[in-house]
Order: sequence, then C-alpha cells, then structure tokens
Amino acid sequence: MIIDTHQHFGTSMFSGVTTTEAELLAAMDANGIDLAFVMPQPTLEDVRPIHDQIAESAEKHPQRIRGMASISPWLSESEYFAEARRCVNQLGFVALKHHPLGHNIAPNAGPSDKVFQAADELGVPVIVHTGLGTPWSLPSLCIPPARKYPNVPVIAAHAGWGVYSAEAIVAAQVCDNIYLEPSWCPTYVARKMIDEFGAERVLWGSDHLSNMPVELAKYRAIGLTEAQLDEVMRGTAERIFPLSR
Ligand SMILES: [Zn+2]
Repeated sequence: MIIDTHQHFGTSMFSGVTTTEAELLAAMDANGIDLAFVMPQPTLEDVRPIHDQIAESAEKHPQRIRGMASISPWLSESEYFAEARRCVNQLGFVALKHHPLGHNIAPNAGPSDKVFQAADELGVPVIVHTGLGTPWSLPSLCIPPARKYPNVPVIAAHAGWGVYSAEAIVAAQVCDNIYLEPSWCPTYVARKMIDEFGAERVLWGSDHLSNMPVELAKYRAIGLTEAQLDEVMRGTAERIFPLSR
C-alpha cells in the first residue's frame, strides 16, 4: 500500500497549477497509489469551498482520499478554530497545514500558535511547508511549536527542500515529534534522513501529480529494504494520522 501524504486541490497562487479530483485519481491509478491526503493549494482566497470540495471527494472515495485543512493563521482565534473543528470533527480531515510561504508567517510567530493549539485539541498532526520561502520556511522554526506541543506530530513537508535539509535533520534531532517528508529533496538526502532516524520518522509525499513517479523512483533508487520502503510509503503515515476515525 502506498499513501501520498501531500496532495492539493484548487489553484496554487505560486505555480498556477490546478488539480481536480479526476486528475488526482487518474494519477494515483497510473502510479499505483492507494490513498492520498489532500489539502487546498496555497491561496489567499476563502478556503472553505475548497475544504467542502475535498470533503465531497473523500466521501465519494473514502478508501482513496482523505482531507487536510489549510487555514490562514492570520484569521481571528474564533474563525480559525471554527473552521479547524468543522474540518476535523465534521468533515473527517486528518491534519492541519501551516504554510509559512503561502500565509506569509513563520510557524513560531505568535498568530501561528493557534494552528498547533488546534491540532493538539483535535488530535491531528500539523504539516509545515519548509524550504522554499525562507526565512519563514526555515525548518528550525518548527522547533519552538514542536517543543510547546509535544503530543502534536509536526511534519516538515519537503524536509528543507534540499537546500535547508541539513537544518531539517537538526530540527528532527532535537524534537522527537518532528517528522520528515522529503519531497523535492535529492536522493542522497532522503537516504541520509532514513539512515539517521529510521524509516519510521520519514513519510512519502509527492506534492504534484507529475512528481508522483519521480518521488517513487527516488525511494526505489536509494537501496532501501522492502520493510523500509513500506514504512516510508505507508507505515509512518498510518501511525501519525488519525485514519481510523
Ligand atoms: Zn504542497
């Protein structure tokens, strides 16, 4: 079984890429991916309709799609919590996303605290975009919230994006609840992370439909055992995300 922990619906304000349900399912079929976790693309528009669209897809395809919420930390506390609770408790979403580049705020900045507080309350991990878009996307900025909320798994998406991957490794060294999702990182960096922490701290994500076969080939090229591959592509995600809800 293969789980893609990093997929999007909607239109990205950075890349202009739009992903639909039909395109996602076709790409999953083409690449042998069983289940995808889907969140809105980074956008400054109201994300609630995109959350609704993701929830609709997840309801139609419960074995193939699960939702994740990406809500701006700049919203008021009450607005943020209302949407986070709606997504997790009513729509069955399995994570919250913090996007330092998309939302123009570091994960350790004051208004971001509500993201981790909500995740703690709702029992879901926080996926933090890291790498592209520094200084807010520096992986080390995940350390303060990860320390403040030790029960919240903090997933460093893109694991520093290659350039800052050494820093992502340091962040994971000092916080046991920081996990690494090395999409867009070089092969040897993904291997280094698995050697350092074991496959149970590393997760598979593709981020873009056309990147699915690339990320699959990457992990198959770095000499992992079948057990390690299974852990990265399924096991770690099944342990961190509340999939049984
Ligand atoms: Zn992404």
